[in-house]
Amino acid sequence: MIDIHDAELDARITEQELCEHKNPNYQPTEYHETDVGIGILTNISIHESYTCDDCGTELDIPEPDWDLMREGK
Ligand SMILES: [Zn+2]
Repeated sequence: MIDIHDAELDARITEQELCEHKNPNYQPTEYHETDVGIGILTNISIHESYTCDDCGTELDIPEPDWDLMREGK
């Protein structure tokens, strides 16, 4: 008889290992601004994240290509 709990656990690990993260979801940092009378206070409301929609794995946030940006100068 198959242990269902163990089977589910194995399936989940395999899914993550086999996932090629083809559906990465980038969430940029979002700020909210509060007018405090003497100026605007900016706070981070949502932190930047980069996760795979398929398996939920947290991926490395892609770095901006600074070399490409500098080339224009
Ligand atoms: Zn994935």
